[in-house]
Amino acid sequence: MNFKHQQTIADVARKCAAMGFVASYDGNISLRADEGIYITATRTLKAEASPDDVCLMDWNGKLLEGKRPPSTESLMHLYLYKARSDVKGIVHAHPPATTAFAVARKALDLAVFPEVILDIGPVPLAQYATPSTDEVPRSLAPFAEWANAILLANHGVVVLGGDVYEALFRTEKLEHAAKTLVYAQTLGGVVPLTRGEVDYLYETHKEFERRGEFAEFQASATCKCEIEKLVCRTCEEKSELDFVRGVAERVLKRL
Ligand SMILES: [Zn+2]
Repeated sequence: MNFKHQQTIADVARKCAAMGFVASYDGNISLRADEGIYITATRTLKAEASPDDVCLMDWNGKLLEGKRPPSTESLMHLYLYKARSDVKGIVHAHPPATTAFAVARKALDLAVFPEVILDIGPVPLAQYATPSTDEVPRSLAPFAEWANAILLANHGVVVLGGDVYEALFRTEKLEHAAKTLVYAQTLGGVVPLTRGEVDYLYETHKEFERRGEFAEFQASATCKCEIEKLVCRTCEEKSELDFVRGVAERVLKRL
């Protein structure tokens, strides 16, 4: 086993516990390496995780090295690595606010926070699946190809990253967003961005890949594009219409 990888997983596990994303033995963390998948072993107390709590498994989930068997959710990790060659690290946790959405069976798929839109994208809700069974990977199948994070109904969330720290930071960002959405709900509700604002956000941040579709945008009637000098579908259509009207008026005046 590569000791550095063992240290990394243990570090992310302790950080997950310190940030309140897991309780006691909950959650599991993994990273992809040439020699296989490093993953937290079953019954790892995340707050006290050490390199000894990390094991190496092969692509069938068989223990290659380590003192205890791999996490009982190893099927989910293997499935996601097989589905996504860009993913090198996975965090599965139960952060309270994010998990509240999973329990209320509400996807986190409104276009609200620019940073979340760019870095994570819409977060779909997978159907309920019995933990540690092959129902879990099956429930992820509709979203595995594109989603950077997936809510697990009545369970928690699984977050993917280009490395395991990216998966951790995305988990943190998502939990922060989920909390803020709940606060906003008490102030009269959430106002998502317009489609034009989201299009322009991706246009001005080309280093971020657009993944998935958001469920809803702010109604185009309140689009501020004309003031902001942004281009959105609604305003484009409107200005085209104005242009045609203007030409028609001028032509009519000459007659
Ligand atoms: Zn779990």
